[in-house]
Amino acid sequence: MSEHPPTTGRGLREARIDLGAVRSNIETLRALVAPALTMAVVKADAYGHGALGVARAAVEAGADWLGVADLEEALALRAAGIDAPMLAWLHAASTDFVPAVDAGVDLGISTLDQLDRAATAGATVQLKLNTGLSRNGFEPEDAPAAFARAVELGVRVRGIFSHLSNTSRADDDAQLALFEALLSQAADAGLAPELRHLAATEAAIRRPELRFDLVRTGIGMYGLPAADGVDAAALGLRPVMTLAGTVANVRRVDAGAGVSYGFTHRTQRPTTLALVPLGYADGVPRAASNRAEVLIAGTRQPVVGRIAMDQFLVDVGDSPVRVGDEVVLWGDSATGAPSVEEWAAWAGTINYEIVTRVGPRIPRIPVP
Ligand SMILES: *Cc1c(COP(=O)(O)O)cnc(C)c1O
Repeated sequence: MSEHPPTTGRGLREARIDLGAVRSNIETLRALVAPALTMAVVKADAYGHGALGVARAAVEAGADWLGVADLEEALALRAAGIDAPMLAWLHAASTDFVPAVDAGVDLGISTLDQLDRAATAGATVQLKLNTGLSRNGFEPEDAPAAFARAVELGVRVRGIFSHLSNTSRADDDAQLALFEALLSQAADAGLAPELRHLAATEAAIRRPELRFDLVRTGIGMYGLPAADGVDAAALGLRPVMTLAGTVANVRRVDAGAGVSYGFTHRTQRPTTLALVPLGYADGVPRAASNRAEVLIAGTRQPVVGRIAMDQFLVDVGDSPVRVGDEVVLWGDSATGAPSVEEWAAWAGTINYEIVTRVGPRIPRIPVP
């Protein structure tokens, strides 16, 4: 059993963001994938961890590129002083590309219209190809026309990339074969992109032959596994986020007490209920009601009754839990805390969704 965790005294709730773990995870991933370059993916506020702190730590640790979905995300990082190479790949029909040029942000380009607009703005682009995922990217049959158009426009094509479905080895292999065929068509058209990239965390770790010139690592940088059956800790990756709160109330109840909305739980015996001041507004999934566990004073205790918007209850039995004691919802399982993956299982989702949904009411506290 771990030691009684320190009470932070920082208030109702916080997400501690271990920037040392970010740096160490980036170093681990870089060592694994070298000589391929590493792009740290910090979209969606760095998967809920806070984009600025994570981006800084990742760059300090040697991440060669930063990747985001929206151009706005890239521009916010630039405005905060992050000058690492950056790629943004998801655009509205109305997105103005001129600020990308001024900020030196590469654009992932998926349509001829985007290509034309990028050329007019004078942008540096990375062409995205759909090799099977059916999200964005040029269709394989449209790729030759896109390559020819890029050459004709004289736009700088720094990269060509695609994204895997992580369905099976065979599906990834089919995407790989198509990607290679399209790369050779690009070469025939006269393009010589310096960055060819296909792999996100899962393939970057498991499939050396899919790494090409660069890998785009998101979830692995946060110390979390990209798929079931991947042991992130065995790879040397450490979870970055610890979500914690402090007990806001303690109540001794009799057997038969109704617990939270809908009385989906009633106490079976006299017991103590601890009130935890986080709820689904903060990203604690309601679907995990009556299933999840939390760590209080070094002991795992069950969440009972429905998780509400701002709070939930924990049955701590006869443990001497007091108001102000720290409650860890998730963190590094080496400390005895539930893992993000356990919460994902309790909620019927994936670890990505658990961390990304941590809400705006939770302060992200950097742990240097
Ligand atoms: C989100 C994303 C990634 C990162 O994926 P992980 O599985 O988190 O490593 C990489 N590439 C693209 C295009 C993405 O959208």
